[in-house]
Amino acid sequence: MSTGRAVVIGAGTAGLVAARVLAGHFEAVTVIERDTLPNTPTPRSGVPQGHHVHGLLALGAEVLECFFPGLRAELAEAGAPVWDWGEGLCAVLPKGTPPPVPMGMPIQAFSRPLLEHVLRRRVAALEPVTLRDGLAVTGLRTAGPGSVTGVRVMGAEGEDEIAADLVVDASGRSSHLPRWLAGLGLPSPRTTTVDARIGYASRTYLYPEGQSRPPWMGLLEPLRAPDFHKGCYAIQIENNTLHVTLHGAGGTPLPHGDDDFLAYAQTLRGPIAETIAVLPPASPVRRYARTVNRKTAYHRLPRWPEGLIALGDSVCTFNPAYGQGMTVAALEARLLEQMLRSKRTRTPLDEQSFQKRLARITAFSWLMATTPDRAWEQSQPTWHVKAANAFMDRLIDTVPHDPRLYTTFSRLFHMTAGPLALADPRLLSRVLIGPRPGRNPRTPTA
Ligand SMILES: Cc1cc2nc3c(=O)[nH]c(=O)nc-3n(C[C@H](O)[C@H](O)[C@H](O)COP(=O)(O)OP(=O)(O)OC[C@H]3O[C@@H](n4cnc5c(N)ncnc54)[C@H](O)[C@@H]3O)c2cc1C
Repeated sequence: MSTGRAVVIGAGTAGLVAARVLAGHFEAVTVIERDTLPNTPTPRSGVPQGHHVHGLLALGAEVLECFFPGLRAELAEAGAPVWDWGEGLCAVLPKGTPPPVPMGMPIQAFSRPLLEHVLRRRVAALEPVTLRDGLAVTGLRTAGPGSVTGVRVMGAEGEDEIAADLVVDASGRSSHLPRWLAGLGLPSPRTTTVDARIGYASRTYLYPEGQSRPPWMGLLEPLRAPDFHKGCYAIQIENNTLHVTLHGAGGTPLPHGDDDFLAYAQTLRGPIAETIAVLPPASPVRRYARTVNRKTAYHRLPRWPEGLIALGDSVCTFNPAYGQGMTVAALEARLLEQMLRSKRTRTPLDEQSFQKRLARITAFSWLMATTPDRAWEQSQPTWHVKAANAFMDRLIDTVPHDPRLYTTFSRLFHMTAGPLALADPRLLSRVLIGPRPGRNPRTPTA
């Protein structure tokens, strides 16, 4: 039976999926968002990353489809194409581009604002949910340091308080939770950062009627320390649009406008420059540089208040180059669902144990993102970072010559397989032998 009231801080991806879960367990769920939310799929100031390419990993798509049955079809109706990762991706890797290979891994490409728009519409339609926008959470309401009983808010009508049995912090990278906990007299959680100083510059292009399209649906040219400082990610999304993000690591200067965007693209090895040179731009160039990996060890605090949990980017953010953030947020919401379903205690949820189990979810993604990033950050990487990166480099260099390895690596990237998938001795020996002569990768085309 549903009882009590929950408050979610932030209507980003993590907040919306958490609200969907809470709607099944609480009488009332209030999602509080400081932005005024648009009625259309448009970027907004509280989510500046909405201007940049957002790829949803295969696992994230599966989890979201379970929470929102028909989501894929709804996005498709809004124009978001679906394609097989192995057939539709052109991956310009340091040692070549793998030929297309069917992988049975459906991928859907859309803008972040479209996904958020569809999720928001779905969540707002749930009976227990109220979306309150234009309202910023300024602090926690408490009954002593051991218990959170709601939030303090500030909106057009001034300050107010909203009572809640459970408060969920999903306020993203700019979360004030460490400061709010300190205000409760709780110790400061340890924060770890790994910064590859990666910057993004993005814009969209339109395919005019009759304009031929590239043979790929997605183009990926990844960064790799120490030699590959520049890369890109481009995807065909809704509204006949090509969304292009150019990125640079280690503080590489990024383009600002029309001329230097194309000039930057021309310095890449793949076909992005030829592709965009003939397309009319549909947006200005937008830049973003807060891509540091950061995790806050809430799970290690000796005490944690009842009535509070935190998830999404507010706990752990990843360098977005690996496309993990939305998928991890969906997995965290799934954990919340599992824990709410199996509650055996008087309180709605064992909050501290939620944070501990959440830390296990983020651990693998953290390792995937920070191991290569440490190679940009450290002039003298430790031996285990060097060894892990040497293995991954060899694997990625072998991928263009080995369709089976390409498929396994793609499943790992999309989180539909765990690291044990690489423990297969046949795959391991292929990696250790490295690229085999005579099996030529393809030449990428625009
Ligand atoms: C450049 C870039 C590219 C990315 N690309 C990808 C990608 O390809 N694939 C992927 O999966 N992920 C990607 N991510 C990560 C992804 O955007 C996030 O991990 C994911 O959306 C989860 O974020 P969130 O909901 O926790 O936070 P956010 O999406 O940042 O949402 C937080 C929300 O809280 C609101 N808020 C903040 N403070 C308050 C307050 N005090 N009161 C009320 N509301 C508040 C904000 O306005 C915002 O709406 C990218 C990130 C960046 C920066």
